[in-house]
Amino acid sequence: MADKVRVRFAPSPTGPLHIGGVRTALFNYLYAKKYNGDFILRIEDTDQNRYVEGAEKYIQEALSWCGIRADESPTTGGSFGPYRQSERKHLYKDYALQLLEQGKAYYAFDTPEALDHHRKDHELKGKTFIYNWHNRNKLTNSLSLTEEEVKAKLDAGENFVIRFKSPQDETLVLKDLIRGEISIDTNTLDDKVLFKSDGMPTYHLANIVDDHLMEISHVIRGEEWLPSLALHQLLYDAFGWGAPKFAHLPLIMKPVGKGKLSKRDGEKGGFPVFPLSWNESMGYKEAGYFPEAVVNFLALLGWNPGTEQEVFNMDELIQSFSLERVNKSGARFDPEKTKWYNHNYLQLKSNEALAQAFLPILAEKSNSEKAADTGYITKVVAMIKERANFVGDFWGLGSYFFEAPQTYNEKAAKKQWKEGTPELMSEVAAIVKNTTPYSSSELESKIKDWITNNELSFGKVMGPLRLLLVGDLKGPHLFDILEMIGREEAIQRINNGITALTSS
Ligand code: GLU
Repeated sequence: MADKVRVRFAPSPTGPLHIGGVRTALFNYLYAKKYNGDFILRIEDTDQNRYVEGAEKYIQEALSWCGIRADESPTTGGSFGPYRQSERKHLYKDYALQLLEQGKAYYAFDTPEALDHHRKDHELKGKTFIYNWHNRNKLTNSLSLTEEEVKAKLDAGENFVIRFKSPQDETLVLKDLIRGEISIDTNTLDDKVLFKSDGMPTYHLANIVDDHLMEISHVIRGEEWLPSLALHQLLYDAFGWGAPKFAHLPLIMKPVGKGKLSKRDGEKGGFPVFPLSWNESMGYKEAGYFPEAVVNFLALLGWNPGTEQEVFNMDELIQSFSLERVNKSGARFDPEKTKWYNHNYLQLKSNEALAQAFLPILAEKSNSEKAADTGYITKVVAMIKERANFVGDFWGLGSYFFEAPQTYNEKAAKKQWKEGTPELMSEVAAIVKNTTPYSSSELESKIKDWITNNELSFGKVMGPLRLLLVGDLKGPHLFDILEMIGREEAIQRINNGITALTSS
């Protein structure tokens, strides 16, 4: 086996990639890049019944959005291609035949109905039907039939499968880089189908043949494939090939309760489980997540750096990643934490970039000239981003920078709007009108001086003033808001507010 680290992500195009799949791809990618190895994308599309149109494109787009670039793939090519199993179809039969000739596999002609009958019969007796050493001689296959009978069936074009003959009475010791050694009694294994008469290999055969031919050094995949490891090891042994090293990643678990994170959990909890939207299901991208945030939170689902550090960019992840620090137990998914990550990455973005991202939302929400003034928007973003998790939060946090309030928070108004307030606000309007230069600091000192000189309380002025400018008691430094919206707009808001709140 080659010394070079070569890993693969081998999804089946049966639908959109779940974030668990993205995490598998990411861990493969990090491992490859850490050791200057190759990351390969291989599409495992041998099961035509489960093929979903558009799924491969989705997989490619999702990886590319996350910044996970394949060194070899169906679209980039490479010297071990083709990278779609359907295009490698011609390769697999010879390998199945090789095992047949060596007596390590056999033809089986049992019809689906016959197998179903056995299954049901066993169920009735409280047993599970396993096609293996203890009954294979009683079933319809090349071990129980004569050579002539087998030939006759094949010549007649009867449907067949080629099954692997799993060994009897052996203890297999499997090695997993995350889980250590796992012992398996081969008597518990069933004789898995490797090849079907439609000319297609099953996942097991194609996967092993391709990993071998593509010189894969490490197989890093989800825990759900652990039960297949024994068969895979046996197949490598049967072919006389050195097996790659295996690492089975822990499952991603529901936010609450037991079990694997599912699409339904996302629907219930109002969070995406797909990187990009797929039909009705919203993706992380469309929900306003930055790819860096998604990559970062996925990396920490099942892996820990051994330090307190939580925020990692891709390069830092590549440096820090190791399979030794991948946990055995399931990783609980925490939707709140994903927001926390996005919040962090949002703070790291430049105000200019955030302003650009805010523009389309503004175009929809406001006709104000300010809503198209990137210099102004950049300043607004700088003032409100601290409270935002997403660019989509900006409008809710700062609409008043663009539009005068149409309503006033009722509860706040009740508390703030008292006898004498309208008069105080009129006086503030007069100060706003006469302050030069019209700046936050000048306004602050003028209004504060007036409050002190007249022995007023700050609360009696600042609360109502904020209510008139913003419509609520929220927002950044009040005098900054005054400066930003401009003198005329400020005076107008104060006067309109006085009328609205006094008459209500
Ligand atoms: N095609 C399998 C899947 O859909 C690949 C499993 C493996 O990585 O061996 O996940």
